[in-house]
Amino acid sequence: MKDNFGRNINYLRLSVTDRCDLRCKYCMPIKNQFFLKKKEFLSQNELRTISNILFKLGINKIRITGGEPLIRKDIIEYLSFLSIQKKKGLLKDVLLSTNGTQLKRFAKKLFDLGIRRINVSLDSLVSEKYNFITNGGSLEKVLDGIYEAKKCGLEIKINTVLLKDFNEEEILNMIKWCAINNFRQSFIEVMPVGELSTSRTSQYLPVSFAKKLIRKEFGLFETKLKTNGPSRYFKTNKFKNIIGFISPISDHFCATCNRIRITSNGILYPCLGDNGAVDLKPYIYKKNDLELFKVIKNSIHTKPERHFFKINEKGYIKERFMNTTGG
Ligand code: SAM
Ligand code: SF4
Repeated sequence: MKDNFGRNINYLRLSVTDRCDLRCKYCMPIKNQFFLKKKEFLSQNELRTISNILFKLGINKIRITGGEPLIRKDIIEYLSFLSIQKKKGLLKDVLLSTNGTQLKRFAKKLFDLGIRRINVSLDSLVSEKYNFITNGGSLEKVLDGIYEAKKCGLEIKINTVLLKDFNEEEILNMIKWCAINNFRQSFIEVMPVGELSTSRTSQYLPVSFAKKLIRKEFGLFETKLKTNGPSRYFKTNKFKNIIGFISPISDHFCATCNRIRITSNGILYPCLGDNGAVDLKPYIYKKNDLELFKVIKNSIHTKPERHFFKINEKGYIKERFMNTTGG
């Protein structure tokens, strides 16, 4: 359906859990982490009720995210439901964002359920640095999972958050590694979602920095490839793989935004960078699908025109972190 500004909203990012087996330093606070109670999570039935309404409202693409979606115990049950909806033609695409820790175990299952494309977060290819930024993660385990996913036929996009004084020297190497493995890649600017003890300015590295570096070393040109997403797509003269740049801070893409987000406890955020939201749970409890339909429709319709992220604060959005809202 169209929102107030004529944008066609057809994409849902659904966070199925706020839990994660990693603790990326830019995503979650290290101290005083807040987690929802498990009983607050949308149940299978509730997930299905909401999904069915969204299909009616024109959502035809769903990305499952979190937290880490693959650590939710009944995730396969919900993905199986989506797979059936896709076969019925109600959905065009089911996508998944993961940190890759559970891919070794789940890759084949995901492929069998009709999932063809996954995004895997990877901010460093150096074990110690990976361990540092994720607060304890094992690069080797994640790489095992990524290679297993590739073997199973999943198309992989590597998402790398650009982080000042952390991974600027790895940008070129990551491009080479993605090229060798035939992975797409996106470089993303850090967003001030969630207030951390460190300033966001100390983490922020604009995509212009990465572009300049890549252009100098490999040549860089924009492709005609267009998706409805926020990425601008480029290629190098040296490699065949596509490189996306997501610049929510330096060059926002709100005019073409086609997405909404729902958290694992049923809060619908029409815009990641705005606290305007509607809690769907009371409507679900009333078992009044018509009312639920109306409230979702209204929320999509009134999606804000744009976000107003400012990087020179500890967090523009203060109490909501990416592991809750879903990246
Ligand atoms: N755990 C999964 C993962 O890491 O891909 C899915 C959830 S995670 C919140 C989704 C994406 O959001 C990841 O690519 C992560 O790097 C990104 N992300 C988390 N916090 C961010 C922030 N403050 N700014 C920009 N991207 C962020
Ligand atoms: Fe977990 Fe993903 Fe956040 Fe890292 S970015 S802490 S993997 S939810």
